[in-house]
Amino acid sequence: MRKVTLSSRQLLFAPLPLRLARTNHDAIVKPAAPVHPIARLPEEWRDALAPRGERAFAAKQIFNWIHRHGVVDPAAMTNVSARLRAALAEEGLGSVAEIVHVHRSADGTRKLVVRLKDGATIETVLLPAVSGPGARQESEIDADAAAAEEDEDDDDAATEEAFRGKTRVTQCISTQVGCAMGCVFCASGVAGWKRHLGPEEIVAQILLGRALLDEDEALRNVVFMGMGEPLHNYDGTARALRLLTHPDGIALSTRRVTVSTSGLVPEIARLGRDFNGQIALAISLHAADDESRSALMPINKKYPIAELLAALKAYPMQRRRRITIEYTLVSGKNDDVAEANKLARLLRGMPVKINLIPMNPIEASTLGPPDMARVFAFQQALVGAGYSCFIRRQRGDDVSAACGQLVLLGAKPKVKGFGAKGADATQSPK
Ligand code: SF4
Repeated sequence: MRKVTLSSRQLLFAPLPLRLARTNHDAIVKPAAPVHPIARLPEEWRDALAPRGERAFAAKQIFNWIHRHGVVDPAAMTNVSARLRAALAEEGLGSVAEIVHVHRSADGTRKLVVRLKDGATIETVLLPAVSGPGARQESEIDADAAAAEEDEDDDDAATEEAFRGKTRVTQCISTQVGCAMGCVFCASGVAGWKRHLGPEEIVAQILLGRALLDEDEALRNVVFMGMGEPLHNYDGTARALRLLTHPDGIALSTRRVTVSTSGLVPEIARLGRDFNGQIALAISLHAADDESRSALMPINKKYPIAELLAALKAYPMQRRRRITIEYTLVSGKNDDVAEANKLARLLRGMPVKINLIPMNPIEASTLGPPDMARVFAFQQALVGAGYSCFIRRQRGDDVSAACGQLVLLGAKPKVKGFGAKGADATQSPK
């Protein structure tokens, strides 16, 4: 019989078993393509290394280096054998992304422009919690801070100790280059969709961002709210979630991870099943009736509000958790108190909190935010109806704006439609 030998590169890139071992949250992901080494779970490293006769402990060491210490250069993995380090280098284990710009705002917000191997650029944002004098008043109108504070009661003593004296940082990450959803108020939608990010590129944003934290800061929350629709890239997002929450790696609590979606109904159900409802959900709603929402978000034509709310009611939410409703206020479009009252009726009885986001003006659109008096009136109507409702502060305004805007500076808009300069047609959702 002819003996078949595989190079170390072929061995390490061998297809993984279709059904992967269960994680702490029982999520099952079936990889359709070879998984990049940075995106391998410890059990997958074991499977990849076993044919080389490597001990299971080596798999844990490599996973630890990558995800706990942020080291992706095999040469720096000092407790791994020289033979294995050489094999990892031959396989191509190494950096998949680099920071090309850090824009630091006066309020401590850092927006990172990250270049990927194919030259595409994405962005990720570090948002330190508001602290110091005046923090309390600030947090009352700061949706992000309020959301984070709300869950502090759930922390165990060990977690409390680990974060004692540290400023808690929330990182916002991207899941796609561009976005196919075409929301008219969003810079990423204007850019159009280029490609999904691999899970290794999603996780790399955390590794790069974490390395930039000051000594008195600690990564506390991760929100999938950057460029792209996370559930359109379901496989990449699900694997990244498993990596980020793995206890041998970055070890984020599932309570500290929020996936924001424009409302892809089948994938909301899938996320709920795969992660037993442990991942927090944020929904970009932005309007209280189908006509207005479809004008702002083309995805609504495919999954109208009634279907979306049915999916949210069926989501297997954990006890004491609430779904975040994101509502971007666009001047003259959805910012009237009558709309707030309509929203209050629509969400009645659901476990939600509402974040109001005055629209960040974008280059490609004539749309803009309402004045603050209208924003406060909208908030008061919802608070009066019994909802927790916060106004998201615009963080890092002095370093440039919202989702997708850093990489869009100077770019020409591709999407035409509602509110677009020179518009004549509306882009369809995927
Ligand atoms: S708001 Fe989100 S879903 Fe809509 S275009 Fe922007 S990134 Fe995509």
